[in-house]
Amino acid sequence: MDAADEVLVVGGGVIGLSCAQALAERGVGVRLLERGALGAATSSGNCGTLTPSHALPLAAPGMVRTALRWMLSPDAPFYVRPRFDPALARWLLRFAQRCDATTFREAIAPKARLLQHSQAVLAALVRARGLDCGFVRSGLTYVFRDAAALARSASDQALLAEYGVVVEPLDAGALAEHEPALRPGLAGGLHFPGDGHLRPERYAAELARIAALDGATLDERAEVVGLERRDGLWHARLACGRTHRAPRLLLAGGPWVGRMGQMLGLRWPIQPGKGYSITYDRPALTPRRPLVLKERSICVTAWDDGFRLGSTMEFAGYDARLNPTRLAALERGAADYLQHPTGPVKREEWFGWRPMTWDDLPILGEVRGHPGLWVAAGHGMMGVSMSAASGNLIADLMTGRSAAIDPSPYRPDRFNTVPG
Ligand SMILES: Cc1cc2nc3c(=O)[nH]c(=O)nc-3n(C[C@H](O)[C@H](O)[C@H](O)COP(=O)(O)OP(=O)(O)OC[C@H]3O[C@@H](n4cnc5c(N)ncnc54)[C@H](O)[C@@H]3O)c2cc1C
Repeated sequence: MDAADEVLVVGGGVIGLSCAQALAERGVGVRLLERGALGAATSSGNCGTLTPSHALPLAAPGMVRTALRWMLSPDAPFYVRPRFDPALARWLLRFAQRCDATTFREAIAPKARLLQHSQAVLAALVRARGLDCGFVRSGLTYVFRDAAALARSASDQALLAEYGVVVEPLDAGALAEHEPALRPGLAGGLHFPGDGHLRPERYAAELARIAALDGATLDERAEVVGLERRDGLWHARLACGRTHRAPRLLLAGGPWVGRMGQMLGLRWPIQPGKGYSITYDRPALTPRRPLVLKERSICVTAWDDGFRLGSTMEFAGYDARLNPTRLAALERGAADYLQHPTGPVKREEWFGWRPMTWDDLPILGEVRGHPGLWVAAGHGMMGVSMSAASGNLIADLMTGRSAAIDPSPYRPDRFNTVPG
């Protein structure tokens, strides 16, 4: 064991980096093992929005019917590739069982709490450590083409307000004034002044920079191929043949945490939810702030040096192909709302796998019956938004400090981890 290693973190996305940084800042000796480059997987090409506005759970009443309808359209934001996959079938069933009004309501508080706390922690971290990641408390606007859909959102607005999320309704005229990049004739919008955005790849790079400054060791091209606990220590065996040991092991491999669990004979219900993005140079008329184009579920983010469209939830296993139909659907969908839906130069077409749990909450904490084994994963569509609070929560729990928010809704043992 390297003398300094008290915690091994496996996975160097925004979650592993946030945990490593928060631990290192508290004086814990951390070594992070990342098989590729830091922050280069799901944490790079995402939309970079920070969204307390998204506190309502995905498993909502009526969602199963909507999802089935979407399955029939190649332009729709949701798709399940039909195939024999018992783990996915179990996942979908558990998700569908939660689409009732009572469960939906109960699930709002823990999601809202983590999102709101994270927003505050991230803003403080950016300020205190001078992170150069394009963070702006910009707000975010939902845009509706369909007046009936906007009217139906009234109950959601009331629910969000109950949980402290400020919502400002915009009628058609106010929306046009608020966001001149939109096409005329849209129905209206909802503005969330508490949201923000940042440049996700720069945020990951900045987390790595300050984690290293605080004393963390960050190893790239360090693929973990075996995990076991022996003689009171966790052993992580790398593809290159090296082994690292430490009393505590934190699995932070996002969509791959299920595979890491398999190395230990444990099962976590994390499915890869594939999403796509396209990044361009800024168009002549660029939105002032992030937008969600509601009926198409497309997120639009603009930075000083670029413009990104992102969307789609495809359950197709770990299929690493870029689907041209899905990418084209992004541009077609954006054209329904934006005067300039694409930029003059296309810089990147990208996909990433969101680590999806069926209860739409991340898994954060120590695994019961496995002393020293910790998990920080399953952040789904909200990994950037929840990253700062997740890192702090793990670091506080590991160092025996009292956590700023109640950790119980996120504990790993809410799932049955024994493969059946
Ligand atoms: C299209 C799209 C748009 C999105 N937009 C937003 C948004 O606007 N706001 C938001 O909050 N979230 C957004 N998300 C979600 C967000 O990107 C994810 O929740 C987040 O990136 C997950 O981070 P992570 O660190 O858990 O996973 P990852 O970033 O995937 O990191 C996991 C890391 O583990 C490493 N790894 C895996 N196996 C091993 C191994 N055996 N050994 C060593 N390392 C290993 C991987 O290489 C990877 O780097 C979006 C996602 C998509 C797809």
